[in-house]
Amino acid sequence: MQTPSLPSRIDPWRLTAEGGRLEGALALAALPRLVAELNRTDGMASVALVASVDRQGVRFIKGAVRTEVELVCQRCLGPLRLALDVTVSLGLVRSEAEADRLPEEYEPLVVPEGIIHVADLVEDELLLALPRIPRHDDVRDCEANGYRAPDRVEQNQPFATLASLLRDSQRSH
Ligand SMILES: [Zn+2]
Repeated sequence: MQTPSLPSRIDPWRLTAEGGRLEGALALAALPRLVAELNRTDGMASVALVASVDRQGVRFIKGAVRTEVELVCQRCLGPLRLALDVTVSLGLVRSEAEADRLPEEYEPLVVPEGIIHVADLVEDELLLALPRIPRHDDVRDCEANGYRAPDRVEQNQPFATLASLLRDSQRSH
């Protein structure tokens, strides 16, 4: 079976009119805005999108973009592997005004005319799927990287202070 190849550029108006597909893989290294957020730049994103026109006449591009990225955990500054499985549901419009009228199920893809780069489209979807503050779900993963939870320190401090106050007051008597 041949790996389907992904075109680098498409005319989304033509693609949706023709009921086309976008299927293939894209190197993460080719997505500079995404790469700026990543700890590692190897890896591929797999793209499986269909383009068509729905019953309401909305031109859409739908499907999924999947990849695995490595970010930097903002708690322990260690590597954080994250699988991204992004559901894509874009409604093609020519202007922001048209975007306001799109049914809720679609995110607007504003393309007045002409071609777009498939990499830009994929990159936008992946950037939106990144967590704003990447962190390991389990704090123990952070502790394995040498992180010490500040809340534990805070919890212990009032008692330490109280203990030293008690000591001081005992001494003064
Ligand atoms: Zn962490």
